Amino acid sequence: MAPNEYEIKKQICEIGKRIYNRNMVAANDGNISVKLNDKEFLCTPTGVSKGFMTPEFICKVDEKGNVIQANKGFKPSSEIKMHMRVYEKRSDVNAVVHAHPTFATAFAIAGIPLTQPIMPEAVIALGCVPIAPYGTPSTTEIPDAVEPYLEHFDAVLLESHGALTWSGDLLAAYHKMESVEFYAELLYKARQLGGPKEFDQKTVERLYEIRRQMGIPGRHPADLCLNKGTANCHNCGSCSTGNGGTAKGSDEELVSEITKKVLASLGR
Ligand SMILES: [Zn+2]
Repeated sequence: MAPNEYEIKKQICEIGKRIYNRNMVAANDGNISVKLNDKEFLCTPTGVSKGFMTPEFICKVDEKGNVIQANKGFKPSSEIKMHMRVYEKRSDVNAVVHAHPTFATAFAIAGIPLTQPIMPEAVIALGCVPIAPYGTPSTTEIPDAVEPYLEHFDAVLLESHGALTWSGDLLAAYHKMESVEFYAELLYKARQLGGPKEFDQKTVERLYEIRRQMGIPGRHPADLCLNKGTANCHNCGSCSTGNGGTAKGSDEELVSEITKKVLASLGR
């Protein structure tokens, strides 16, 4: 049975504490949302620390981000448009987390995407994490910048700002944020030690195959894309949208073709 609304509000507060306690947000930064149904979404309020929320802080909005219910003194996150764009484009997503984790944000500020294949879990869970171009907070610039990545990724860095993750449920979206930050921290530290030893293409392909066999939900750059081999296919797997969904199947040649393209982009 799906948890009731109050239980979900409590879970949002719990995840808020975790992102705050793990240095993924400072002061009142960050925001979290959960989809209840096509017309109702819960989200954290603006202007409060996500580490000190109780269920009555949580606001309810419609699919456009308009307030349905909010207790006195609370207004939905100023970044709600960014969350709603994810739900609009990804019907499989039920939770979105935005934070400023130290290492991931440092990469976002330096303009360096997380593309080096350095450890199995990061390759399997994330593949690579691209950077969505900078946009002014609270405007539609960030949703517009993130949109091209929604089809093929479940996590992006936001240039000069932070990170955004999404998934089928709140815990999974939060875990994705943890995975991004851990990957960024390892990459940062390995660079201090003279640079990470990257996996070769064969090793990456085997990890991608493991991901497929495990049937892990969500999107991943290892998945096939309909724009493969065309000018619309960016090396990172983030193709321009509008040509339909992601192709399903396991045509090995195509997989290896895509993998080659992904790997070509990893050489940066
Ligand atoms: Zn932010």
